Amino acid sequence: MSMEDYDYLFKIVLIGNAGVGKTCLVRRFTQGLFPPGQGATIGVDFMIKTVEIKGEKVKLQIWDTAGQERFRSITQSYYRSANALILTYDITCEDSFRCLPEWLREIEQYANNQVVTILVGNKIDLAEKREVLRQRAEDFADAQSMLYLETSAKESDNVEKLFLDLACELIREA
Ligand code: GDP
Ligand code: MG
Repeated sequence: MSMEDYDYLFKIVLIGNAGVGKTCLVRRFTQGLFPPGQGATIGVDFMIKTVEIKGEKVKLQIWDTAGQERFRSITQSYYRSANALILTYDITCEDSFRCLPEWLREIEQYANNQVVTILVGNKIDLAEKREVLRQRAEDFADAQSMLYLETSAKESDNVEKLFLDLACELIREA
């Protein structure tokens, strides 16, 4: 028996505009809760969840932004050593989609070049308010060689899949 309680350990960092649902996605996945009931994220915050993939224990260390996204002051330290990035926008908020190139510039500047990035369109439970067509987001993700998934932290739609897909991809690239 190994002394470690896991076979893999990966650091996953969520980025994207304030209000797109990053904290809700993390809390939904790690605690099964919505809403998290703690308001805005305060201070640097990470949560741990271990999942099993094909008999292997994969420990996910998930970092939520501490509200710095409002001030555009997320820096190198936050991206450093991230194995994966979850770049999130809100499908009901065109502005959050239009900011994606800015986030990509940050990734290019601060993340390591092996980082796996998945683009996530959150809040699909609000389909009637959709401002960003799925095809448009898929095309954007394709052009940047990113995975793409649409989620609802509220309805728990695709949230488990998001983290499991990412873990699978990370194992494949490990
Ligand atoms: P963050 O700033 O990116 O961390 O966003 P939060 O997780 O704090 O969420 C911002 C707001 O969006 C809150 O009012 C949440 O209740 C709401 N929200 C988050 N995810 C969803 C979702 O999947 N569906 C809906 N309808 N609202 C959501
Ligand atoms: Mg937050």
